[in-house]
Amino acid sequence: VKKIAVLTSGGDSQGMNAAVRAVVRSGLYYGLEVYGIQRGYQGLLNNDIFAMDIRSVGDIIQRGGTILQSARCLEFKTPEGQQKGAQILRDRGIDGLVVIGGDGSYQGAEKLSKLGIKTMGLPGTIDNDISFTDHTIGFDTAVGIVVDAVNKLRDTMSSHERASVVEVMGRHCGDIALHAGLAAGAETILVPEVPFDLNEVADRMKQNFDNGKRHSIVIVAEGVGKGEEVVEAIKRRQPSVEPRATVLGHIQRGGSPTPFDRNLASRLGDFAVRSLIAGESNKACGMIGGDMVLTDIEKVVSTKKQFNMELYELASRLSQ
Ligand code: ADP
Repeated sequence: VKKIAVLTSGGDSQGMNAAVRAVVRSGLYYGLEVYGIQRGYQGLLNNDIFAMDIRSVGDIIQRGGTILQSARCLEFKTPEGQQKGAQILRDRGIDGLVVIGGDGSYQGAEKLSKLGIKTMGLPGTIDNDISFTDHTIGFDTAVGIVVDAVNKLRDTMSSHERASVVEVMGRHCGDIALHAGLAAGAETILVPEVPFDLNEVADRMKQNFDNGKRHSIVIVAEGVGKGEEVVEAIKRRQPSVEPRATVLGHIQRGGSPTPFDRNLASRLGDFAVRSLIAGESNKACGMIGGDMVLTDIEKVVSTKKQFNMELYELASRLSQ
């Protein structure tokens, strides 16, 4: 490859900027021309493409969001849209593309690779719902935000002997709930991967208060249901518990990325560029056990992320 482009797509996450920076600077370091595409696949179809230099990614490693902006683009899901996108890249002589995004964005990259563009996917999503990587870019920061919020709720809860139900992101993947729940010492973690009984949850909360616990925290992944619904369900079963719901929402996607996410993004961005130079295409870049790993995008999008049951059981043992 001689000319590569980079775009961010789908839901944004902290650390996407650090990944863009790494792709641009590594690409230039290795003598490539590097282009930025504004607003994901929508920007590609709009030919919203510009040359990037060393300075164009200055002062962004610490910023949340993405300077390239993101979008969802229905047209790109059609074969005609994909043909048009590939043609626009070919017309500009761009033969490699790094896509930073989630599952959907990966599928777009796969389509482009079938049309002759060399593509690499980087896992940019807070949900940690991408397989063949231990962590996605943004996950660590999102978990930190949830833990910080629960710390604050704990202060006020202990003063009033209250219970909190905290709804966190994760439609199909309970990893934010699991990791934040373990780190925050939540009593109960409700995730889509593990069946649960609300009667037990409510009884346990009541028991905890009877045994002298001064607060009780339930973390619920949005894929399980709304925090407010869980609150109502608990109240119906144990009216004396009186939990309150807190929905963290998009706050989880914002703010400065943690050092872990910045370093993960930097390593993956550089790895994507080196892999393109080595002639690889249609691959997802991930980190497994500290090592950089390439996996076929097809395999990644067709494999559900494995849930860490051991960690879930540990959280449960420690939350007595
Ligand atoms: P994420 O990448 O975070 O999972 P989306 O699922 O919204 O977010 O995907 C982002 C964009 O990727 C979509 O708006 C669309 O342009 C493109 N995309 C998603 N799925 C496909 C697909 N099956 N084929 C081609 N492009 C797709």
